Amino acid sequence: TDLKLFITGPTYIRPEVRNAGSLPEFGHRDSEAVKRFGPIFENLAALAGLPEDSDYQVAIINGSGTCAMETTVRSLAGPDDIILSVSVGAFGDLFHKLAVTNGKNTETLHYEPGQAMDLASLERALDEVSPSLVLLTHNETSTGVANDVAAAVALVHAHGALAAVDGVSIFGGAPIDLPQMQPDIYATATQKSLGLPAGFGIAFVSPRAVAKAETVPHKGWITDLSAHLGRAAKKQTLTTPNTTLANQLAIQLDYILNEEGMENRFRRHIEMRDRVAEFIESLDGFELFAPEGYRSPTVTCVQVPQPLKAADLKNIKETMRARGYLFDPGYGKLNTAMEDSGRQPVFRIGHMGDTTMLMLEEFLAQLGPVLKEARG
Ligand code: PMP
Repeated sequence: TDLKLFITGPTYIRPEVRNAGSLPEFGHRDSEAVKRFGPIFENLAALAGLPEDSDYQVAIINGSGTCAMETTVRSLAGPDDIILSVSVGAFGDLFHKLAVTNGKNTETLHYEPGQAMDLASLERALDEVSPSLVLLTHNETSTGVANDVAAAVALVHAHGALAAVDGVSIFGGAPIDLPQMQPDIYATATQKSLGLPAGFGIAFVSPRAVAKAETVPHKGWITDLSAHLGRAAKKQTLTTPNTTLANQLAIQLDYILNEEGMENRFRRHIEMRDRVAEFIESLDGFELFAPEGYRSPTVTCVQVPQPLKAADLKNIKETMRARGYLFDPGYGKLNTAMEDSGRQPVFRIGHMGDTTMLMLEEFLAQLGPVLKEARG
C-alpha cells in the first residue's frame, strides 16, 4: 500500500528526487566523485548558514543519523573525559546510550517528557559534573520539543566543554545558523527535513572538535571523525557511499537552495506547525505537549484527553492507516510510562521535508472526525 507519511521520518519524497534515483552511479574514488560530491558539501554548508570561508568542516558518513552521533561520542571523548548527556526524551536517551555503550564516563541530566531543557538546571549540572563534552538535542522527535540549543552551547562553552548537537530531525526545516550557534559538532541525517531516503549521517565540525578528535585514541574505524574528515577534504566518504542517494542529495540541495529557497522552506515548516497547532486547539481537550516557545517546526506531539488510552491511539492509527495515512503514536514505551505515572498518552504528527500545506490539510481533514469519534 502506498501510504501518505505523516510520521517523523522517513517522510514524503518529491517525484524529482525519486527519479534522480535512476541517474547513473559513479566511482567514489574517481574524479567524478569530486564533481558530484563537491557541490553537495558546499550546499550542505550553505544550508547550515556557513559562509564560504568558514572554518567548520563537513563530513558525510555512511549510515544514518545515529552513525554521526556514535562517531561524535567515540571521537570527542577519551578515557579521561566526562560526558554530560542532556535528555528531554527518547533521542536524548539515545545519545546517552551511545556514550555508555561505548564505555565513556557519562553523567546525565534528564527532564520529564514534554519539558524543554532549561538553562538554570543545565548550569548546575555543568558545575557539578565538569564535563569535557556535552550532548544536546536540538529537536526532540519523541516529544515535539525544540530546545534553545544556541543558549545551551554558549553555556557549555563558558564551562570549557565541547558541545555536540543532535539536529537529525530539524536540519533542512529550520534555519540552522551554525556561525551563531557555534556547536562543536552538529549531526544530522538525510531522511527527515531534507526530504530524502535515509542513508547518510552528516556532521558539521568546529576546529576545536577537529583538534580534540586528533587526540582521542581508539575511535573505531567507521566512527573515527578524523578519518571521515580526511576523506571529506577530498570530497569523498570514508567507506563506499550509496551513489544513488548522493545523486538524489545533489538535486535536492540544488532545489532547496535555488528553487524553493531556504527562507520559503523554513517558513513553510512554521506554517505547517502553526496549522497543526490551530487544528489541535480546535479539538476540545487535546493539548500540545511541548511548551509554548519550544514547539518543533517539524513534529507536533499531542496529548489526548480522557477517556482515551494508549490502546485507543493504536486503533486510531489503524483507522487512519486504512484511509491511507500513517502517523506515530507515542514513541517507544513513552505512552506506557505516561500512563503508569497517571498522565494521558500522546501521538505525533510529522510535518517535515517536502510535505505541502495541501497534503497536511487533507490529512487533518481525515484525522479530525476520527479523533472526535474516538473521544466520544
Ligand atoms: N535523533 C533524532 C532527534 C531523531 O529523530 C532520530 C530518528 N528518529 C535519530 C536521532 C536517529 O536517527 P537515525 O534513525 O537516522 O539513525
